[in-house]
Amino acid sequence: MAVIFQRPNALKDVSMHYCPGCTHGIAHRLVAEVLDELGIEGKTVGISSVGCSYNSYDYFSCDMIQAPHGRAPAVATGVKRCKPDCVVFTYQGDGDLAAIGTAEIVHAAARGENITVIFINNTIYGMTSGQMAPTTLLNQFTTTTPYGRIAELHGFPINVCEMLATLQGPTYIERASLHDVKHIKKAKEAIKKAFKVQLAKLGFSLVELLSTCPTNWGLSPVESMTRIEKEMIPQYPIGVFKGENLEV
Ligand code: SF4
Repeated sequence: MAVIFQRPNALKDVSMHYCPGCTHGIAHRLVAEVLDELGIEGKTVGISSVGCSYNSYDYFSCDMIQAPHGRAPAVATGVKRCKPDCVVFTYQGDGDLAAIGTAEIVHAAARGENITVIFINNTIYGMTSGQMAPTTLLNQFTTTTPYGRIAELHGFPINVCEMLATLQGPTYIERASLHDVKHIKKAKEAIKKAFKVQLAKLGFSLVELLSTCPTNWGLSPVESMTRIEKEMIPQYPIGVFKGENLEV
């Protein structure tokens, strides 16, 4: 019987700890499919971060390193410079990348490091019970913004792709979404392009993925997908911010 659907080789045959309806699992699968399709699992080193995806090292079957909070781009830089033939990627949430790790991501991008960053934006700190993140939307309720995020008190959300795209260093920056099949397919294309940019030695690539956190949003999985479309995309428009016409 022909196999029409199976687990990617780059994803271990283990159950994931993510909550029901969390799109981390989809993001993992897309990265693993791309590693398979590019045939690079055997020479890829992933850097896991701190947050809900801290133990992505248990899920990807390539070599993995756990970085301290926010420091994944620095660890990736070290690995890539020591082992330039390896393919190096970080997998980071918004609390990790856009809060404590802001300096790390900005300077890795500014240096044009030849690494790939997979950035999961779910507008909240998931693992630590739903505090406000740099990406939390205005008026969004979190455990630390019980009256909603108020600009005068808490500042404005940080649009990471737009911010990094102002730098000369990065080569390819795209924001994609995981809220329906059409967008998931486009997200995979973006991830694949990001890895191909690295393989072509063209420099820094980052894909932001708009993702769900049903647990801390207090929504069902289906409602969470709708929230991405209706509330997140207006603040975080999907598209290519750098490298649109790049052929790889
Ligand atoms: S807390 Fe949120 S981000 Fe973390 S695994 Fe659960 S749903 Fe996903």
